Amino acid sequence: MTVRLTRREKDAIRSSPCGRCGAVPPFADGSRCHPHRVRPELGYVAGNVVPRCPPCHAAEPGHHPWIKAARKGGRRSYELHPENVRALNARLTPAQRSAIGRRVHELHPDLARENGRRSQALHPENVRALNAKLTPMQRSAIGRKGGLALNARLTPAERSARGRKASRAITSAQRSANARKGWAAHRARRVAA
Ligand SMILES: [Zn+2]
Repeated sequence: MTVRLTRREKDAIRSSPCGRCGAVPPFADGSRCHPHRVRPELGYVAGNVVPRCPPCHAAEPGHHPWIKAARKGGRRSYELHPENVRALNARLTPAQRSAIGRRVHELHPDLARENGRRSQALHPENVRALNAKLTPMQRSAIGRKGGLALNARLTPAERSARGRKASRAITSAQRSANARKGWAAHRARRVAA
């Protein structure tokens, strides 16, 4: 059973003493503890989040404080000299570019959604053009991935409420086509097993 922590629960963790060195927030610079995911892939769910003071958090594997600093610095220099950042980007190989993107996505999974929403708001025509360039297979693979990621974050009750809503939004012909498809996939899995 995975229940995502509420804002209040995360806040309580921020005010708790560091689980590693015992330092009690608030610290000299006014900062507090960070909620640290013991297993990052499980997310901010009950039992997986512990308080870490900033230095201890930076020392946890997979948490490089320079990534945060680089992001801040990167944003700032992009605001000041967008042409330099573009030139730097142009020097990277596609593999390097996607490795950086993957790493950022691992650390900030919600950023992609935020950025996507932002670019949709700023340049809807670009997003439509990009979408038009994708094959139907690519489009549905992206949708599936987004749907699975969203599902993983929902509680079972939220999930079934979404399912009910989606089911009301389609025609009965679509519903029975979907059921047939689901059943065929289920049978295929059973045969494979
Ligand atoms: Zn500490």
